[in-house]
Amino acid sequence: MSEKASLFENVNRQVDKAADLMGLDPDIRQILTRPTNEIVVHFPVKLASGQIEMFTGYRIQHNSILGPFKGGLRFHPAVNRDEVRALAAWMTWKTAIVDIPYGGAKGGIQFDPKGYSEEDLERITRRFTYALGNNIGPEYDIPAPDMNTNAQIMAWILDTYLFMQHPHERQDNYHVVTGKPVASGGSVGREKATGQGVVYLIERWAGDNDFDLSNATYFVQGFGNVGSWAARLMKANGSKLVAVEDAAGAIHNPDGIDPDQLTAYLLEKGSMKGYPSAQAIDHVTFMRISADIFIPAALENQITTSNAGSLDVRLIAEGANGPTTPGADAVIIERGVQIIPDVLCNAGGVVVSYFEWLQNKRREYWDLDEVDGKLHKILMSGYRRVKNAAAEYNTDWRTAAYIVALKRLERVYKERGIFP
Ligand code: NAD
Repeated sequence: MSEKASLFENVNRQVDKAADLMGLDPDIRQILTRPTNEIVVHFPVKLASGQIEMFTGYRIQHNSILGPFKGGLRFHPAVNRDEVRALAAWMTWKTAIVDIPYGGAKGGIQFDPKGYSEEDLERITRRFTYALGNNIGPEYDIPAPDMNTNAQIMAWILDTYLFMQHPHERQDNYHVVTGKPVASGGSVGREKATGQGVVYLIERWAGDNDFDLSNATYFVQGFGNVGSWAARLMKANGSKLVAVEDAAGAIHNPDGIDPDQLTAYLLEKGSMKGYPSAQAIDHVTFMRISADIFIPAALENQITTSNAGSLDVRLIAEGANGPTTPGADAVIIERGVQIIPDVLCNAGGVVVSYFEWLQNKRREYWDLDEVDGKLHKILMSGYRRVKNAAAEYNTDWRTAAYIVALKRLERVYKERGIFP
């Protein structure tokens, strides 16, 4: 089997490694290595042109023993059942590691949104929401943004879902989706939350390792929500961005790329192509950049056995989900490169989604200091739990993170038992 063959298999290989080390109850391993529900919907959309097109959407609910299913929606041509299963499972581990009362789910539509107008995207989103029906719900399964989805898409989901409820109950359903625009019930700090979390964790790692970030260099793969926010927030600690790659290509400047200027350029031109203060490089060169920190924040399976040996960094802070294959993981551990694993590193997004959900339920608005302060506290607790498990089991951080999650889930299964 090729190392990229099945993403869900890769997740379960990671689970098996942790489960073997901690001695997880085999019955609970059986439960946790399969998703609870898999919803596949094929739905027609009448596009603005009048043409009807069929789409396939997924919602896979991995586990809800710790709370409602929770996880993002992705619009991408590579979305398929295997990928969504893996992403859903990662949400289960993530929420358990940072100890928030949620389970794990993920979903998406298999298509390339770049080929569609804003009006068509709205039609596709609303029709998908309708097709999902009561498979989502504010106390049952709560979607959020992921690749190629954003606050606007969440606003359309909210609006469609509310119109599917009895008028008397609409006001009680705002927490059906998180990552909404702030004016439509979103939380301040949610848009930057995943990137902010990545930076809080890098700063904590640097503190623990007497590593001076003000002289550090880093490079980022993916300059969307997670990558651009992480890059911009790293500026405050003085470290220097030296290369960026997105779907259109990569750029490099050893003297530094200003992440705010690059963000503004992208907003204006729609692509990094032609960015004046850096040189265009190819993917292989990008993956060999010499720097202190690499932040993968694009797709899964980017660090593989073919490039892990030449990755010239001290720390990999995984903003993306599943950027490292299990085979590459072994190479990286062997080489002594530290990884802050995805299930901890990018948990900031779901933590602030949880805050948004709480604010909607309580009809409250929190300010940015409160959101950032609580996010920091939760992530630092997660970091400590993973660090302690790595020491206790004398293992790498990814395996330690899984052990933290599996222990929490195992305990609850043992307490509650299996019905009937
Ligand atoms: P996004 O759509 O905002 O941005 C994705 C970025 O990746 C874009 O810059 C795109 O050009 C780039 N990209 C796509 N294909 C690429 C390729 N082949 N090579 C290089 N770059 C490529 O998505 P996002 O929300 O920032 O999500 C990025 C990753 O972070 C995903 O793995 C997602 O699951 C994960 N994540 C996102 C959140 C969140 O809150 N948005 C939370 C946790 C994890």
